[in-house]
Amino acid sequence: MRLIVAGAGGRMGRALVRAIAEEPETELAGAFEREGSDVLGRDAGELAGVGPLGITVTDDPLSLVVHAEGALDFTIPAATVALSELCAQARIVHVVGTTGLAAADLARLDAAARHATVIRSGNMSLGVNLLAGLARQAARALGPDWDVEIVEMHHRAKVDAPSGTALLLGEAVAEGRAISLADHSVRSRDGHVGARPEGTIGFATLRGGTVVGDHTVILAGPGERVELGHRAEDRMIFARGAVKAALWGRGRKPGLYGMADVLGLAD
Ligand code: NAP
Repeated sequence: MRLIVAGAGGRMGRALVRAIAEEPETELAGAFEREGSDVLGRDAGELAGVGPLGITVTDDPLSLVVHAEGALDFTIPAATVALSELCAQARIVHVVGTTGLAAADLARLDAAARHATVIRSGNMSLGVNLLAGLARQAARALGPDWDVEIVEMHHRAKVDAPSGTALLLGEAVAEGRAISLADHSVRSRDGHVGARPEGTIGFATLRGGTVVGDHTVILAGPGERVELGHRAEDRMIFARGAVKAALWGRGRKPGLYGMADVLGLAD
């Protein structure tokens, strides 16, 4: 499968190029970065540490989508929305790992999914998607007098909070309780905020060092506590998941899919 990588100079972009190189069923068909990036003109394979692949990083995604079957995109919301329109025009698979998308961005992604096969997940790893299933089940089984808090820690360069994965886990808990996350989430607390309102789902964000991604779902009941957690040790888990998602999406009808569909964990 001929794949292009958006943000090829980024942390995830480089990992995606490595993951494509190690998967025999995929080949790197192009790589791009934002206008003015200092990696333009560099060989994407060299940047990723897998040796030259003969693919030069460009700033023109339009020229790449027409010759590709799929695009892997872990960038920033504005870049992802723009690429979704190109993928829809070219009718190719768009794998979206970018987090921090606003409601308006998601609406544009929805529109693009009428023509493209869009697979979006705040976390492309098998372990986290399994954790989401367990969190959904635990929230369903334990009554509303069990409070749910989601704690995450990431490296100091991460720009959005809470993480896309924390929100994905929050959605799973909300689904288990048959409530809407938007109406029940508490994204931060500071000062005299009063007692914890019953039925809310709380988030706490830690940032520092080089942590790839730690997440814990805490279910705190009267006199006992359950903690379900995941520690990501290497970005390659997300990159391999994205490549797997692209292969899964090949030939599938347009629409918006999630990682649970790809991994067969959707219930
Ligand atoms: P990063 O190192 O900052 O990489 C983002 C890259 O996108 C940078 O190289 C950036 O270039 C580039 N970029 C910005 N605007 C662009 C444009 N218009 N066109 C093309 N490229 C553009 O960040 P990261 O750690 O790789 O993370 C990227 C995203 O993936 C974040 O949203 C993160 O939360 C998410 N993520 C998701 C998962 C998952 O499993 N879903 C896992 C890990 C990370 P400049 O630096 O030159 O601006």
